[in-house]
Amino acid sequence: MAKKAKKAASAAGKKGQFVYLFGKKTDGNGTMKPLLGGKGANLAEMCRIGLPVPPGFTITTEVCTYYYDHKRTYPSALQAQMKAGIAAIEKQTGKKFGDLKNPLLVSVRSGARDSMPGMMDTILNLGLNDQTVEALAKKTNNPRFAWDCYRRFVQMYGDVVLGVQKGPGEDHEPFEMVIEGLKHERHHQDIEDTKLSVEDLKELVVRFKALVKERARKDFPTSPWDQLMGAVGAVFGSWMNDRAIVYRRKYNIPTEWGTAVNVQAMVYGNTGDQSGSGVAFTRNPANGNKEFYGEFLINAQGEDVVAGVRTPEPVHELKKHMAKAYQELERIRQTLERHFKDVQDFEFTIEDGVVYMLQTRNGKRTAMAALKFSMDMFKEKLIDWKTAVMRNPADQLEQLLAPVFDESEVKKATVIATGLPAGPGAASGKIYLNAERAVAAADKGEKVLLVRVETSPEDLRGMIAAEGILTARGGVSSHAALVARQMGKVCVCGAAAVEVNYQARTVNVDGQKFNEGDWMSIDGTAGKVFAGQVKTAPSEIVAGLLDGNEAAKRTEKFKGFQQLMKWCNQATRMNVRTNADTPEQTRQAIAFGAVGIGLCRSEHMFFNEDRIDAVRAMILAETLEERKSALAKMLPYQRDDFAGIFRALKGYPATIRFLDPPLHEFLPHTLEQQQDLAKKLGLPVETIQSRVNQLHEANPMLGFRGCRLGIGYPEISAMQARAVFEAAALVQKEGIKVNPEIMIPLVGFKKELDLQIEVVHQAAREVQAERKVKLNYIVGTMIEVPRGALTADEIAQSAEFFSFGTNDLTQTGLGMSRDDSGSFLSKYEELEIMKKNPFAALDQAGVGQLVEIAATKGRKVKPNLKLGICGEHGGDPSSIQFFEKVGLDYVSCSPYRVPVARLAAAQARLSMK
Ligand code: ADP
Ligand code: MG
Ligand code: MG
Repeated sequence: MAKKAKKAASAAGKKGQFVYLFGKKTDGNGTMKPLLGGKGANLAEMCRIGLPVPPGFTITTEVCTYYYDHKRTYPSALQAQMKAGIAAIEKQTGKKFGDLKNPLLVSVRSGARDSMPGMMDTILNLGLNDQTVEALAKKTNNPRFAWDCYRRFVQMYGDVVLGVQKGPGEDHEPFEMVIEGLKHERHHQDIEDTKLSVEDLKELVVRFKALVKERARKDFPTSPWDQLMGAVGAVFGSWMNDRAIVYRRKYNIPTEWGTAVNVQAMVYGNTGDQSGSGVAFTRNPANGNKEFYGEFLINAQGEDVVAGVRTPEPVHELKKHMAKAYQELERIRQTLERHFKDVQDFEFTIEDGVVYMLQTRNGKRTAMAALKFSMDMFKEKLIDWKTAVMRNPADQLEQLLAPVFDESEVKKATVIATGLPAGPGAASGKIYLNAERAVAAADKGEKVLLVRVETSPEDLRGMIAAEGILTARGGVSSHAALVARQMGKVCVCGAAAVEVNYQARTVNVDGQKFNEGDWMSIDGTAGKVFAGQVKTAPSEIVAGLLDGNEAAKRTEKFKGFQQLMKWCNQATRMNVRTNADTPEQTRQAIAFGAVGIGLCRSEHMFFNEDRIDAVRAMILAETLEERKSALAKMLPYQRDDFAGIFRALKGYPATIRFLDPPLHEFLPHTLEQQQDLAKKLGLPVETIQSRVNQLHEANPMLGFRGCRLGIGYPEISAMQARAVFEAAALVQKEGIKVNPEIMIPLVGFKKELDLQIEVVHQAAREVQAERKVKLNYIVGTMIEVPRGALTADEIAQSAEFFSFGTNDLTQTGLGMSRDDSGSFLSKYEELEIMKKNPFAALDQAGVGQLVEIAATKGRKVKPNLKLGICGEHGGDPSSIQFFEKVGLDYVSCSPYRVPVARLAAAQARLSMK
């Protein structure tokens, strides 16, 4: 116990300690991500396990919080602690910050708790000025290298700290324009950066500084300390830049987490051809294969690899250039997996043949790779089955069910280009060449393919909106690939044959021209690009489960999925049911592993062409007699539908909700439709119009709906109950077990439920007597208005089950209409009034309390009261976690969400223990 308390204290850090060293002496460790950020904590952890990491220190996330709480200023103790940190680095490297003989250069790197790829920028080679650059040149006897470092530093610092960036309407970075200008002026062509001479680089520094002066209206700072403080401020400042905010919103990262800053001795990948820089994964993060996967650039600093300026080589090519360094990397690859027991995504730099580790983290992966990793690592005994379950992100699982291109369609289609398969799946869409236009098109409902030379963080919104992403440049660690992997987007990158012309808004591929708005298709599993629209086919899992396709069942993907689901069953307490209104949906859901229907919306069966008229006649009826005769016409339809569903269920229970929506939803609202109906029913059109007007409600969500209908017109509920029981009798006689659970909606008063229960029992008695059968059924209610939740103890006296209708409970609990919330909700999320859309992820603090109160009060009266949830939230992993805690018996969701819910329910249970 004491030991545990000590560990917790160290993970939280020491009070007043703002700087944590790593290197020979390491203060932090891998568990300290909240305090040191992901990067800082893992740098410390790598030092601890003896991996070669350049020394440095981490400024904690607490300083970031302080910074924003105190008008962008620092705690007074920070400066001295940073000085001590620099001194520690100086001691270990034998170099000195700002020295004129052997200058120490550092990198300043941001690092939030969760990695936010590309969101915040790193500054390399900090500490250079007109004097130290000469010292570095002399010391290394490599002026080209020294000046290359300097021009990089001025460029990065100018961009990140001094804000010299491309303005609105500019398609290129200003610094890149300067480089391009110089190349053409002096070499008359686009040469590689590595071909720039010392004189070129010196000239670039001069021009860069002039550019900074012109745009930022100040001189470039020359004192290394000023540079350092400026860079630290910029990293903290970047926590609140637009890109970071957009990213946090998308992934629900709280603003108050803050970022840490890492200051680290530079190692140089740009000293010559025995140096280089790269990124690698211990296994393939796109398809999951167990192979060393990554890329590197010779004679380059790290930023070059991800920036996509030069196209890197695959990591196994390193064997040819630097056999020893490659061997060392292989050894590191093994060490990382053995230690972290998960696939690592790491960054390295080789300086004159020596490998240095600059970062490691758990690799982002596609759902497909996650599945394969978990299965393989279980077999390799690196992890147990429970960990394997946890390793599959529930909210990504749907990717595995996403369509792939139809084989026969692919044969017909023309491959126009190939690139790297960076995000598996199939996507087809109209091409757009910038994020803004892609978003606008997607908002209009178009399927969009974002096509770029390469993507950068500014494109994030467009990437979110697009079905898929295609880039002409960049490798597996390019921004596009990174983001695609994380968002589960279909992506092909580095398709060199694709020529993007931003000005003309056209794409040329091998002589073929495409305009914005033309269709293209990409296969992110094979890395292929097709002209036009290619039809898709179901994924192997869907084909295997729903169509019984034998070839699909033999695929590794299918088998892995089945194993995962089997483990989920072992782990789970909650059942997963489905929301289904037809036998077809029911069959699908059962194939996906649902064990019953949690919500069958009985009125959905009314909307069918030939039935709607009977429903309308029922609504228009003026007398009880007329209404009963209309209801009699509806009865056989409902009975047949229920029978179909019961057969598909094969004995699993079905919760059937009685008529819920306001009646006017069924009536025609245009004059033409009204005239049409008048003719059919032989009524004057005025009668229909007046009834429509009569039924009109100012606020139908809170109007004459739910059980209020059945209370106003008990004969409607009687008909529905009869249809259920007649169907049950029929199917039961066929030898199939039937377990209907009749659910009365929108109950707020016990008496409402009592009145409806009596109608149901009456129908049951009649049908059982007529058909001479004994039927199994229960009657319960939906808890979906606050009064129902708060008086759940009273309602539970009559109800045999509760099902939480969290859609309406959210609407009524928040006083917010789902259909009207579009106009203000995004603003609310932006301002973080609500962190997530409450109709997608349960508002646990508010609506969640209503659920908890009702569950507790209900079970006090009836300890075995069956509890379930049938709102949208039943398929949302974070909400499912909450339902597990509350102790519900099941969640229910749409058929294609069933696997997601099974995985989330299993994970919720496992993380409870
Ligand atoms: P990001 O969070 O965008 O990945 P990093 O802080 O990891 O940014 O920096 C990007 C790259 O900069 C690293 O992958 C590495 O190649 C290079 N880099 C950072 N620090 C150093 C350093 N001390 N020495 C050499 N290269 C570095
Ligand atoms: Mg990095
Ligand atoms: Mg409802």
